[in-house]
Amino acid sequence: MGKPTGFLEFDRRNNPGETPLERIRHWNEFHPMLSQEERRRQGARCMECGVPFCQSGVELAGMVTGCPLHNLVPEWNDLIYAGSMEHALRRLMKTNNFPEFTGRVCPALCEAACTCGLNGDPVTVKENELAVAEAGFAAGTIRPSPPRVHTGKRVAVVGSGPAGLAAADQLNRRGHLVTVFERDEEPGGLLMYGIPNMKLEKAVVRRRIALMQAEGVEFRTGCDVGRDVSAEELLVRYDAVILCCGAKKPRDLQIPGREAQGICFAVDYLSAATRALTSGEASPLSAAGKDVVIVGGGDTGNDCVGTAIRQGCRSVVQLEMLPKAPNVRGEDNPWPQWPKIAKTDYGQEEAIALFGADPRRYCTTVKACAADDEGRLISVTTVRLESVQSEGRTVRREIPGSEEELPCGLLLIAAGFLGPEDYVPEAFGVARDGRSNVATSDGRYATGVEKVFAAGDMRRGQSLVVWGIAEGRGAAREVDEYLMGYTNLV
Ligand SMILES: Cc1cc2nc3c(=O)[nH]c(=O)nc-3n(C[C@H](O)[C@H](O)[C@H](O)COP(=O)(O)OP(=O)(O)OC[C@H]3O[C@@H](n4cnc5c(N)ncnc54)[C@H](O)[C@@H]3O)c2cc1C
Ligand code: SF4
Repeated sequence: MGKPTGFLEFDRRNNPGETPLERIRHWNEFHPMLSQEERRRQGARCMECGVPFCQSGVELAGMVTGCPLHNLVPEWNDLIYAGSMEHALRRLMKTNNFPEFTGRVCPALCEAACTCGLNGDPVTVKENELAVAEAGFAAGTIRPSPPRVHTGKRVAVVGSGPAGLAAADQLNRRGHLVTVFERDEEPGGLLMYGIPNMKLEKAVVRRRIALMQAEGVEFRTGCDVGRDVSAEELLVRYDAVILCCGAKKPRDLQIPGREAQGICFAVDYLSAATRALTSGEASPLSAAGKDVVIVGGGDTGNDCVGTAIRQGCRSVVQLEMLPKAPNVRGEDNPWPQWPKIAKTDYGQEEAIALFGADPRRYCTTVKACAADDEGRLISVTTVRLESVQSEGRTVRREIPGSEEELPCGLLLIAAGFLGPEDYVPEAFGVARDGRSNVATSDGRYATGVEKVFAAGDMRRGQSLVVWGIAEGRGAAREVDEYLMGYTNLV
């Protein structure tokens, strides 16, 4: 056990951040790390619980709490306190292939379940994880480590998001020959072309890809499986195929005026912004000088707020159909359940600092769009919603007379996803479940088609990076067993 009184002696301290008005002047990450001395104090705050909920990853009241990767959080917190970042890294890498990603973008399900959070502030688990990972890169401890023995088995991974990367990393370490097929021009999936640069710098993604290449993983980019390469070809040439194509089919708006120019899906907008940033060219979907309305009050909508502000939008409004969540846990939502409370994310903070008001409008949606004579979007009509009971269910209906017209030159749809695109599941002939994800039997990754496995958002629906990594690892374990008759992957 580390420092028994650490949680009593030291307060939680987060990585310092630039102020909203400073950071909107650039596209880089804006949380420099704490000193090593302060990091040790943050590690010392961990209570080393006998039953650590932080690493449990269990479902409580319909939502997962604790780390889905079962990261050995108390162990490496203790090692951070002891000043042994190298040992902490070894324990961390046992369960997490890419702590430099989760340490930046994970919503920290672990912290929601931290015992210190019962009566005070939870341990800075996520930032501790990032500190361990970055110390590993800085010290050269994370370096290429190609497998010494090859099995001669060949595995194709389709899609290079966190699920595909984790599966490829695990199977390559095991000695299988892994080729990752990626439709985009660069690997990384939503790590590369979804999550904005200020949350996850693209150099961090490229650093990991370079490491995997040096360890022997082959990446074939610009290669669309099901179109450029057929399913039959992969099934003939490889001993197993893992489908990790994500769940990119967006939910659309069915409203009058939807065809106007200036309406697009959030992920298309965000990926265009990243492509513009990495190429140095202007984004064809820029928000510069425009009034922006975002449909969807979630995290993707928040990323759109931060991106539109950096592009120089004139105004930004974010519409959310649901009412605002409470500021503190309700009595029916006790620790260690995932807290259903209101949060103000980085983009919203920036909008408040820049425009003087929270961009979110709750219980509101968009009802119609209007265009000028040349078909360009000029305004949207919003309407307020109320919740009513109908046939035992809560439904939302429009409040008559609550319509409002907002000027709008760019409408971004961040209204969620409806599962994977159809053509890859169709090409491989794999079955779908009731939510249109690729179907596998309970808790497994094998599809009903011989040799074919599925993982990540394509199997569980739009989710989180940490789940992508967990799924990729799970699929790798199952594929290894399928190929070798046993597995020692965890
Ligand atoms: C805007 C946005 C922001 C997000 N922010 C966060 C966050 O901050 N934290 C967090 O934890 N989660 C976040 N998420 C969710 C997270 O990014 C996803 O859950 C995760 O990336 C899913 O991983 P995946 O590997 O299953 O799929 P993806 O990351 O979607 O990767 C799928 C890959 O498959 C490729 N592909 C698809 N079809 C083919 C084909 N036919 N041939 C070859 N390649 C193909 C795609 O090009 C893509 O690269 C965010 C999601 C979005 C949309
Ligand atoms: S991966 Fe996420 S949930 Fe797991 S320990 Fe890291 S920050 Fe916490």
